[in-house]
Amino acid sequence: MVRIGVIGCGGIGVEHIKRITNTLSGGVVVAVNDINQEHAEQVIKDLGLQAKFYADGHELVHADDVDAVLVTCWGPAHKEYVLDAVNAGKYCFCEKPLATTAEDCLEIVEAEMKQGKHLVQVGFMRRFDAGYVALKKAIDAGEIGAPLMLHAAHRNPVVDDRYTTDMAINDTMIHEIDVLHWLLDDEYVSAQVVYPRKTKYASDHLADPQIVMVETKKGVRIDVEIFVNCKYGYDIKCEVVGEDGVAYLPEPATVQVRKDAALKRPILMDWKDRFIEAYDVELQAFLDNINNGTPLNGPTSWDGYAAALTADVCVKAQQKPGEILPIQLKECPEFYK
Ligand code: NAP
Repeated sequence: MVRIGVIGCGGIGVEHIKRITNTLSGGVVVAVNDINQEHAEQVIKDLGLQAKFYADGHELVHADDVDAVLVTCWGPAHKEYVLDAVNAGKYCFCEKPLATTAEDCLEIVEAEMKQGKHLVQVGFMRRFDAGYVALKKAIDAGEIGAPLMLHAAHRNPVVDDRYTTDMAINDTMIHEIDVLHWLLDDEYVSAQVVYPRKTKYASDHLADPQIVMVETKKGVRIDVEIFVNCKYGYDIKCEVVGEDGVAYLPEPATVQVRKDAALKRPILMDWKDRFIEAYDVELQAFLDNINNGTPLNGPTSWDGYAAALTADVCVKAQQKPGEILPIQLKECPEFYK
């Protein structure tokens, strides 16, 4: 049984605590931290946890009865807790981002390599989504031959006024940034952003939609449409064009109805519903690997670094529409291959 300490009891933190407590096997939440003590204590009470509240997250990391740390507080605080856990030789599941800068991610990479063991899994849950797993299997089996192009879309029905243009990269496309290079088993080398005609539903300070074009080392051309006020639903598309055929990300299983001279199929509205199973699978894998003594098999610290660096370049490309900017990742160490 993995004894878990959770840092950050906001939206996703509470969801993860619930799934560990009610749905998954092999883990128990024994410690909780949040900057808002009252809120954290309420969470412990509401969910009936046998967990201790720690006012100091670092004290939680070092508690003798904490085997693994779940970092689910806000992004800028991730690095200090992940680094602390790694230096203490403890397993750590960190929600994206691993850290807010590529340099900080590299610090975690260095610390993890020093421990000589994979201790960190980053919460890019799409790699555990059944649809993406099936798509990767088809590509890896050579069903469509060598991939040449990839067309993706990330559409949200609506965002509030706090959503800014750079968030389209750092909060939205960040999931495509991680999952697409994994899907293609490739690395990004450049990025370019272009802006189509703006929707009337976007706030003054938001460019929406956007198209981000990325090229990989093997020469695959990827275009990602980010459209966060598309109105009609939360819709994730991925089409891989290969030399011998085209493979598509499966649509979520929803019931199709033929009625009144129409063919209808609902589209999800909430991102939380779209990947709900993937969140379960990613955390179950984390727990199983620790309990079985097998290596972690999710996104690594290196993937966290690659995502942070790529996102930085994409944000710079947003500010220079049309310009192609290089993505210069460091050489991946053997440890992460
Ligand atoms: P949230 O609802 O704002 O929760 C963050 C929580 O952490 C809040 O309770 C916050 O307290 C607390 N907190 C902030 N700084 C802290 C610190 N230094 N130490 C301890 N607790 C701290 O945010 P969220 O939506 O849960 O997101 C949390 C992280 O998960 C983010 O990095 C986000 O990008 C990631 N996330 C990932 C996915 C995914 O699809 N994989 C989905 C959602 C979120 P206050 O509210 O008092 O500030």
